[in-house]
Amino acid sequence: MSRVYLGLGSNLGDSRALLRLVPQQLTAAGVEIIAASSLYRSEPWGGVPQPPFLNAVLAVETEMPPHTLLDLCQGIELAAGRERKVHWGARTLDIDILLFGEEQIDDERLQVPHPYLTQREFVLAPLAELSPQLSVKGKTVATWLSELPPQGVQRIENSKTW
Ligand code: AMP
Repeated sequence: MSRVYLGLGSNLGDSRALLRLVPQQLTAAGVEIIAASSLYRSEPWGGVPQPPFLNAVLAVETEMPPHTLLDLCQGIELAAGRERKVHWGARTLDIDILLFGEEQIDDERLQVPHPYLTQREFVLAPLAELSPQLSVKGKTVATWLSELPPQGVQRIENSKTW
């Protein structure tokens, strides 16, 4: 059984409903939801004008191998109507595999730990809520977060309500 952290984001459509869909669909596929972070609001990255994102992180446990979980997450994204026309552009639902147990993966489909994990407040802030002492690339999640310049990420709702 592997402990996996998933980063969720949405900035199109009914973002809250789309994010809520993720734990439902994962559970239906046999993935166990261990914890959900609060919901955060973040300014978009990459210079493309677009609405702010809603973000959250889930801790899950699964027997699935990493690429099978990626297939499942991409299926959930597609079912949510995600289109990939503009790189860095708006998306209905984005699911990133942030960490997969202790695994280090670097192939054409999957990089784990996720390459941007230690640079983005919208990932580190919700992850730090769930597992502040988790070690990633030689530092704890809490340390990475404390070293980051502020990026306009706000906690807007606790995990019980979204
Ligand atoms: P994005 O549009 O940023 O969500 O990127 C989607 C692409 O990233 C997909 O083609 C995935 O195969 C690839 N990818 C690489 N590493 C990861 C990861 N850790 N989690 C999710 N997708 C990943």
